[in-house]
Amino acid sequence: MTFPDLPTGLAEALAQRGYDAPTPVQAAVLEPEAHGRDLVVSAQTGSGKTVAFGLAFAAQVLGEDGRVNPSDAPSALVIAPTRELALQVSRELAWLYQKAGARIATCVGGMNPSQERRVLKSGATIVVGTPGRLRDHLERGALDLSALAAVVLDEADEMLDMGFREELEEILDATPNTRRTLLFSATMPRPIEALAKRYQRNALRIAT
Ligand code: AMP
Repeated sequence: MTFPDLPTGLAEALAQRGYDAPTPVQAAVLEPEAHGRDLVVSAQTGSGKTVAFGLAFAAQVLGEDGRVNPSDAPSALVIAPTRELALQVSRELAWLYQKAGARIATCVGGMNPSQERRVLKSGATIVVGTPGRLRDHLERGALDLSALAAVVLDEADEMLDMGFREELEEILDATPNTRRTLLFSATMPRPIEALAKRYQRNALRIAT
């Protein structure tokens, strides 16, 4: 199986990387029935889940011409439990979206917040960060979520286990109702179901 019709920049990036076939979770999020929908995805690390959500939200980030829209406010937000994971996600989305012209901002604890504010102010297409730091930027008015079209909760179970429920809710409550919500989690305990129920509509469930 090959990757189904993707925007040119993303297809070229995958080819350059030598990824010529989607992993099962990537194939599942690219199925026509998943297009534009909220998703609850059971996925483990190593399954190719980062590229999966990067490809899943392509239609919310890129215009018809496969290039990023000119708005300065971010189109997509990825929230991850730890600094290490957020940096890893950023690196992965950086090569995937480089040819498409997306700018990626990383907002994590332990980094210089004023430098992050400058990057956010200069216009980021995709923001990746940890819950606490993202909430700080939101509260200080440095993170504009008004044009957000897709939000990803990566390792959602870990984030709830680490006690980030309040941060997640505050961030999600600041996004437009029209956004897509993609929830990725290795396990689906009850608190994850509650989060899905509160923040998703008619979600498609994917287990690979
Ligand atoms: P992840 O599950 O996102 O942590 O990804 C695990 C590793 O698989 C990363 O190094 C990815 O770059 C790699 N990967 C992602 N998609 C593919 C693919 N379609 N073919 C081969 N490797 C991939």
